[in-house]
Amino acid sequence: MIVMKFGGTSLSGAARIRQVGLIVRRFARSRPAVVVSAMAGVTDELIALAGRSVSGPPREVGARLDRLRKRHRREARLLGLSDGPGSRLERELEALFTELEGVCRGVLLLRELSRRSLDLVSSFGERLSALVVTDHLRSLGLRAQFVDARDHIVTDESHGSAAVDFDATFRNLRRGLLPALRKGSIPVVTGFIGRTRQGATTTLGRSGSDYTASILGGALRAKEVWIWKEVDGVCTADPRLVKSARVVPRISYQEAAEMAHYGAEVIHPKTMLPARRGRIPIRIKNTFKPDAPGTLITSRPGSRGSAPLLVSSIDGMALVTIEGSGIFGQPGMILRLLTPVALAGTNIYMISMSSSEYNVSFAIMQGDLDKTLRALEKDFRDRGLLGEQVARITVERGMCAIAVVGAGMKGQKGIAGRVFSALGDAGVNVVAIAQGSSEYNITVIIKGRDMKRGVRAIHDRLNVGRSAGRTRRPALRLVSGRGR
Ligand code: ADP
Ligand code: ASP
Ligand code: MG
Repeated sequence: MIVMKFGGTSLSGAARIRQVGLIVRRFARSRPAVVVSAMAGVTDELIALAGRSVSGPPREVGARLDRLRKRHRREARLLGLSDGPGSRLERELEALFTELEGVCRGVLLLRELSRRSLDLVSSFGERLSALVVTDHLRSLGLRAQFVDARDHIVTDESHGSAAVDFDATFRNLRRGLLPALRKGSIPVVTGFIGRTRQGATTTLGRSGSDYTASILGGALRAKEVWIWKEVDGVCTADPRLVKSARVVPRISYQEAAEMAHYGAEVIHPKTMLPARRGRIPIRIKNTFKPDAPGTLITSRPGSRGSAPLLVSSIDGMALVTIEGSGIFGQPGMILRLLTPVALAGTNIYMISMSSSEYNVSFAIMQGDLDKTLRALEKDFRDRGLLGEQVARITVERGMCAIAVVGAGMKGQKGIAGRVFSALGDAGVNVVAIAQGSSEYNITVIIKGRDMKRGVRAIHDRLNVGRSAGRTRRPALRLVSGRGR
């Protein structure tokens, strides 16, 4: 069997959902399990709806709910799935809207939104889209079955980016989905969401449906996981930033994880974990060009020569610098400095330390800045460390990280030098740098306004992607294969 995941852009309306239907039908003999995202923009709308339920007028909340309701109804009708309010699909959609309205009413009354309630509100996008896709596949004569991932994916309580209990989840998915799959039915699974043991709805992190797909792939021991997008595959740089970016035919799990960690939205960073563990190849494919080869992700590195494989970038970052002779030079210092950052739940993207050890800088997302500073300052104050002489914290906002990624860079001389000279010639100032010891990744922090220029300069100067290996034609043979 194979897992096929369709992203929000591939499901943005009736015309695109039709295209999704054609693809699923075409590969039906490979026994697909389908994973869906919410329709494009719906998760953002739901998050805004939750936010307005805390602080906005009830009328606005009602209007927002109505817009979402109308959009789903309209697309269902355009697909010919419902002929009015009495139809089964419309009743199912309406039941979800009634539930969502109830949650919003609760938030409106209390004027309080916990991370737990936000997750519940966010979960409706996938639940709605999966209903529509299931019905559409049925209308094509396929035996599709709506599956609420919350009945199978068990997570902890870290709302917003919950951690999956793999043992329980794999067991549930095998037990719950394999028998029907073996009989030829096609599960249509809500991406992005899970549930705690106590029964609270959780989400796996923004864009987490890719991750759902590879969790399913791992559990069901799928032959491959196919992630359908609106881009031709993983490109040598974000095609929105660099016109000359090319598709990379193949890339390793590790290279893909590094790239995704540094902002390439083309795949969620956690997706590689279950796939790598189960040695399941991932393919990124274009919904509108199903015959194009796309990108194949396996354990084999994509780059063979010395050129980097791709450049990824992420903006909206802040660089926090801690300096002062009073706190440095002791063993375990970095650990002590960064523990409050970790406890605040902040993800650190890169760290760089000066050789004098009198300062250390680290890059985080700007949204995490306030809580991080509060945690650091409290910790320093408690330990009597805050003060010009002892330790000082400074912040630079509006920064971006550019990561130059590729296994082929390992052991190659001069790559960092070429990155800096490309940036220097383009008039871009480098604020901080880091190179992981794996040598798969060089990261530079620059000003956010220089991002486009910086990415282009590196992409062109270093011939990024030129060393990319070739790959075989796509495995359309799966159609006639028996699957596993
Ligand atoms: P989905 O429908 O799954 O949500 P997205 O809209 O997230 O799909 O599509 C992937 C996005 O990732 C595209 O908009 C593309 O511009 C962006 N992107 C960023 N970096 C890369 C890259 N290196 N290769 C391909 N796409 C990239
Ligand atoms: N709908 C969710 C989001 O927008 C998950 C996903 O699309 O993968 O983040
Ligand atoms: Mg996305």
